[in-house]
Amino acid sequence: MSKRALFLDRDGVINVDYGYVHRIEAFVWIEGIFELTRQACRLGYAVVVVTNQAGIGRGFYSEAQFHQLTDWMRQQFAEAEAPIDRVLFSPFHPTEGVGPYRREDPSRKPGPGMILQAARELNLDLAASLLIGDRSTDIQAGIAAGVGTSLLFAPKGVKEPLDPPCPVIASLRDALPYLTPPAC
Ligand SMILES: [Mg+2]
Repeated sequence: MSKRALFLDRDGVINVDYGYVHRIEAFVWIEGIFELTRQACRLGYAVVVVTNQAGIGRGFYSEAQFHQLTDWMRQQFAEAEAPIDRVLFSPFHPTEGVGPYRREDPSRKPGPGMILQAARELNLDLAASLLIGDRSTDIQAGIAAGVGTSLLFAPKGVKEPLDPPCPVIASLRDALPYLTPPAC
């Protein structure tokens, strides 16, 4: 039987988005992230991180640095009894990428590539899954992939009309009611 997933953007949802975060010292957790992922695990969701990392393509930091930070991040989640099942990243940028990183790639959100890859590899039920992002490109990726529910995390509120419209949450705690017990 296929599994439901909680898809999380990284910068702006898991950690505060200071721009191109790539060092442990600059990684500041967003309040409620462990409670959210712990609850998702308890209810049988796979937890999947899908993150654009154009900073790699732009040459600001390397894939090795990204993996080092990711290993540390996953360890923190595991210690909080909220293990992450998969982390997918897109290092490309269509105009600012250097060398092979300069390209349009379906993995880069708003493209659905990372979500579809996770769905294939983990046998996920996307229609019953939940996504949380802090940009409209996250929501667009969720819709393009067929994720059932996508939430915009906007702790400072929303100024412009949303494209596309979607539920907005001001705190990660507000996402808890969207995680539901398994159907059977
Ligand atoms: Mg983000």
